[in-house]
Amino acid sequence: MLDQFEKQLEYCTYCPRLCQSACPVLATEGNEAHAPWGIMQTLNMVRRGEIPFDEEIAALSYQCLTCKACTEQCHHGNEIPPVLHEVRKLAVKHDLAPPEITGFLEKFHRHNNPFSKDLLQKLKKIVPAKYFQKDTPVIYFASCTTIAQCPEVIRDTFELFEKLKIDFVGIYPESIQCCGYPLITGGLEDEFVELAEINFNTFKQYKTIITGSPACVYTLRETYKEYALGLGSRVVSINEFLEPYLHNINYQIKKSIRTKIIYHDPCYSCRYLHEVDRPRELIGQVTGIQPVEFNHHGEKTACSGQGGCYSIMNKDVSDQICKVRLEEVYEKNIQTIITQCPSCIHKFRKNSNHLIIKDLVSYLNDCIEGTKD
Ligand code: SF4
Ligand code: SF4
Repeated sequence: MLDQFEKQLEYCTYCPRLCQSACPVLATEGNEAHAPWGIMQTLNMVRRGEIPFDEEIAALSYQCLTCKACTEQCHHGNEIPPVLHEVRKLAVKHDLAPPEITGFLEKFHRHNNPFSKDLLQKLKKIVPAKYFQKDTPVIYFASCTTIAQCPEVIRDTFELFEKLKIDFVGIYPESIQCCGYPLITGGLEDEFVELAEINFNTFKQYKTIITGSPACVYTLRETYKEYALGLGSRVVSINEFLEPYLHNINYQIKKSIRTKIIYHDPCYSCRYLHEVDRPRELIGQVTGIQPVEFNHHGEKTACSGQGGCYSIMNKDVSDQICKVRLEEVYEKNIQTIITQCPSCIHKFRKNSNHLIIKDLVSYLNDCIEGTKD
């Protein structure tokens, strides 16, 4: 068991803890058993057959945000999340997964999304009917978390398209609301493959699939490929899509855009998709200003606490991790956070009273008045 990860497990087992300042779970809990080396040492003992693979070990694999902050500080570039994803799959297969995970699956099954709601009906209230069309080469994939938790981002995206005279993007008019990311990160592989096949067969007809959620971009572009369901370069982030339009179109800027903002890099944007400069360039391009930076930004960003499926199991610690990130915003006396992940937006909103938390596209839409003809 886990022999394919021998190198990663051995590195962490004998490591002088080079990533010890990186892990938000360790920093918040102070529990070395949940540090990168703590989890990996235990799993290495399972690999060597020194301890059994049981419910306790299965639960341990969920004590990680899969944020990859440790990888950034590791001289070997060791990646913990792929090891834990494999352990989670084994946990589910052997009926050892924590009850929170099996409960999550029951909830998911009701409407093929983690919110147990018919999100298509909600989406239809957010976006004008004219955008719901199949016969277009370019489709916008509204992530389920965005529809459920920050629907204004979708409305703002289509408003921005109108301002930039982009009139060829449609929304798939039938029920597809989750890319499957929460399933695969939770180890629910069979269910993930079932959903991915449905999505693949729908999306393969399109030339371009745009999405505003970095975890969805990564899942549709990279994770699907691992299951021979690759959509490849047809999947683009909203930033990639908007970049040439914002560069080439002559638009008017509103006068009241001088608000001081701070930019939070979501883990999936910067450490999985390596999109670090582009959001800053888009802000600079449109407004002429640069956002204030967190002490840990770009590839060295800190997780909002909502990464992976960590909060399903560890709600309080997850909120605590978020509050640590927000402390810096208060210290810097900034009122507005711009970011680009629906889970981060929701988490920050839940854990702050008076801050304004906005998606990058909503912010750009606020700043742009319309095109100059
Ligand atoms: S991730 Fe790298 S730095 Fe961290 S414990 Fe493992 S080997 Fe060491
Ligand atoms: S991926 Fe993130 S939460 Fe998991 S061990 Fe590494 S730093 Fe800690």
